Amino acid sequence: MATLTYTDALSASLERAREDYAALVARGLSLDLTRGKPSGEQLDLSAELLRLPADRHTTRDGVDTRNYAGDRGLPELREIFAPLLQVPADQLLAAGNSSLALIHDCLVQALLDGVPGGTSRWLDEERIVFLCPVPGFDRHFALCERFGIEMVTVPMTEDGPDMDVVERLAAEDPAVKGIWCVPKYSNPDGVTYGEETVRRLARMRTAAPDFRIFWDDAYAVHHLTEEQVRVGDILDACAQYGNLDRALVFGSTSKITHAGAGIALFGSSPVNVEWKLAYSNGRSIGPDKINQLRHAQFLKSADGVLAHMARHRALLRPKFDVVRRVFEQELGGTGLAEWTNPKGGYFITLRVLDGCAKAVVRRCAEAGVMLTPAGAAHPYGDDPDDSVIRIAPTYADLDDLEAAIRAVTVCVRLIGYGKQLKK
Ligand code: PMP
Repeated sequence: MATLTYTDALSASLERAREDYAALVARGLSLDLTRGKPSGEQLDLSAELLRLPADRHTTRDGVDTRNYAGDRGLPELREIFAPLLQVPADQLLAAGNSSLALIHDCLVQALLDGVPGGTSRWLDEERIVFLCPVPGFDRHFALCERFGIEMVTVPMTEDGPDMDVVERLAAEDPAVKGIWCVPKYSNPDGVTYGEETVRRLARMRTAAPDFRIFWDDAYAVHHLTEEQVRVGDILDACAQYGNLDRALVFGSTSKITHAGAGIALFGSSPVNVEWKLAYSNGRSIGPDKINQLRHAQFLKSADGVLAHMARHRALLRPKFDVVRRVFEQELGGTGLAEWTNPKGGYFITLRVLDGCAKAVVRRCAEAGVMLTPAGAAHPYGDDPDDSVIRIAPTYADLDDLEAAIRAVTVCVRLIGYGKQLKK
């Protein structure tokens, strides 16, 4: 009896994947996993917000929220988020609905005015470089591209960005002005920075005197397990090492209450807070304090936020479990892919064989399943290995999600076995 060769086995696997793909296309699916949005059920958890602030319109201190004033945001709301973002309440600003807008404004302000400790405004520099741990958040990279900021990639490790690389690049080139950090449950890898990473970021020598860490704590309380993973206190660490003004902290309630109608937060050193206020005061006479009041009434306290996030977790955990289960069933042991098992955040990263991610995403789209474009998690949309695919399981319902993930696995087998056979 002829023995089955490795190539025969691969050919048989590819043939099965082709049949599965034909069946998939025939189903005519139309599913969208492109962005990490909360589901309708998650938004419903905060339905009470729509009935608040009821007939109240004054703050704890008697300020009329309907009027101008209050450029720092409501103290009662800042106090709720201060321990969660590890920023003293008097160094925390509560603003409008988008932390990305705050990040955008900080970049514009740095370009137009410079930052405290700098010798010139960034616009007058010949080059500006940001360090970009990859994979990372596509909108950070899009801002850099928009403002002509060069991006230099830094590999991620299990403890955050590779600090040997970060320290070398920051120390040797004064054009390196910043680094993007999503310190907890990072988008998309779900990595949480280790204590030593935080210390080294705070302590490292930078050739630029006005270097800034953009500490985007978007997933500070977005736990997917019982464990409330903690990350080191970056402002405190920077202060300890004499780099008081190095870190800018951002957060928001986008994935706590209502993604399009929440509250964004900015925290930093007292000097940076005054710097930020100088710009925001010229831009707006004050934030939407009525929305801030309803958020303070609804969330009540830091513990109130954590209790609310446990209700999100009850909705989200089964979705992340479905993705893992289907990947394990369909791709486990094939050698075609690896995937993350995050303890929080909004994403799972799927790594397919080098050179296959774009083709997998394209085949999925042709079968009616839209994924985040391959390359999106890298600067300039260019994943040099073409292997990272970001999976966003939160928005779809469980049945649709399972169908979409099964479709992804069919495409991974189709493209992966095809590649292995051509070797
Ligand atoms: N930062 C990160 C890392 C994110 O993943 C997101 C949302 N996907 C944002 C910021 C956007 O936050 P916001 O809605 O507050 O602008």
